[in-house]
Amino acid sequence: MDKHVDVMLCSSLDAGSNPAASTKLMKKVLVLALLIIILSSICSFSLKKYVNEYDWKYSLDIQKNKLTLSTNGDTFTFLINESIYYKGINIYHLDEAVTIENNDILISDNFLKQWVTGAKGIYNFDHVSKRNNCTFSIYSHLGISINKLGENYYEVSSKAKADLGKSYFNKPYPGIDYIKIKGQNLLIKFKYITVLKYNIDAKKCVFTYKYEKSAIEKKSIAGNYSSGNKTLNKKIIKIIIDPGHGGKDPGAIGITGIKEKNVVLAIGKKLASTLQKEGYTVIMTRNKDFFVPLRGRSKIANKRNGSIFISIHANFSYNPKSRGFEIYYLSKSASDDEARHVAAYENNVIQLENKSTGGLLNDIIWSMISNEFENESILLAGLITKHLKTIGPPHGRPIKHARFYVLYGATMPAILIETGFLTNRKEEKNLNTASYQKKLVSKIAKAIDIYIEKNYRKFIQ
Ligand SMILES: [Zn+2]
Repeated sequence: MDKHVDVMLCSSLDAGSNPAASTKLMKKVLVLALLIIILSSICSFSLKKYVNEYDWKYSLDIQKNKLTLSTNGDTFTFLINESIYYKGINIYHLDEAVTIENNDILISDNFLKQWVTGAKGIYNFDHVSKRNNCTFSIYSHLGISINKLGENYYEVSSKAKADLGKSYFNKPYPGIDYIKIKGQNLLIKFKYITVLKYNIDAKKCVFTYKYEKSAIEKKSIAGNYSSGNKTLNKKIIKIIIDPGHGGKDPGAIGITGIKEKNVVLAIGKKLASTLQKEGYTVIMTRNKDFFVPLRGRSKIANKRNGSIFISIHANFSYNPKSRGFEIYYLSKSASDDEARHVAAYENNVIQLENKSTGGLLNDIIWSMISNEFENESILLAGLITKHLKTIGPPHGRPIKHARFYVLYGATMPAILIETGFLTNRKEEKNLNTASYQKKLVSKIAKAIDIYIEKNYRKFIQ
């Protein structure tokens, strides 16, 4: 299924600019002013509702998390769940990350403020670092000047009120202690920098400096994400690791008799210790060879208030040539027949659970599935896919969806990784080898770390 969606919406607002039509222009100005008043009271605007007002066109690429928006003459690229966007090679900031909600796209209204209202004071900055060499550029539509206040401490002034949006202060920038808005001006305090020069032109000033990380800062950058005054310690992120099967349920049996339950436990334990070393709190649904009912797994995750849920499995196929990893998220429907079979196979254990399962997996239950975490699960799956691809190709299309009972009921982004096929001779050997398991785990852990970093603001609310 192609996930490109192209939408073209027509204009209901006259975009022309005829100087003779002054009343028309007045009306437009009034509409615009009203719009700004309305917008200033909310955080994000609905793209779908909004494009009706303009002759805008957008396309969404779910696989790449990319939204391309063409306004009258300008093209912007947004990244879903990120608070930055691009216009050409220039990067801009949003107050809030772009999100997909209820089949709509929400974009922070400071995007509109910037591109609809015209001239303003300091409206943006960007930071580029190559090793220790950094440039920090500040933009204004109006004139700009710099005043040195002290050692590594500057005031950048413009002729209108600075408006940067709060996201500016969320991320740590190398060599910058803090950035503050003071009326029309911006206060910047640098730290750990050895060389500093700056250039100014009418609408931009650029600081160039060398940054020397201190040992203390290296540690704090590795362990925390800073959000304004708040600092997120990774310890508060609870990653649930769920090695599939266990005890009386062996899972898939490999070509030489290797059992899925043992392989996934070894991988799960390695993943747990890697993530713990990164600073995260890790909770395992099982850390030994015992049986955990499917429903019990997401229950553990919810009870412990997990941030994300990762179920680890190894695949089975009647075709010994089948190979590669797959990543699944929960959905009411399966992406294809193969996905349906994998789900049926993983759900099979229900029969071992000594319970009356009549109706448990029926359509009423599945119809209750909320897609609240679907987009986030897809994002997480996408990142893991990207990293796992560096060690081997996926099995067909890497991200699939199906009715996985183990993922059902988890109130957090939840995915299931089929790490490879135990029924493929080479993959069975790999999956049962400590060095390959380590490689696999380092890629998954890296992807999780990036996912958390991208979404860190959600975890401190
Ligand atoms: Zn399994």
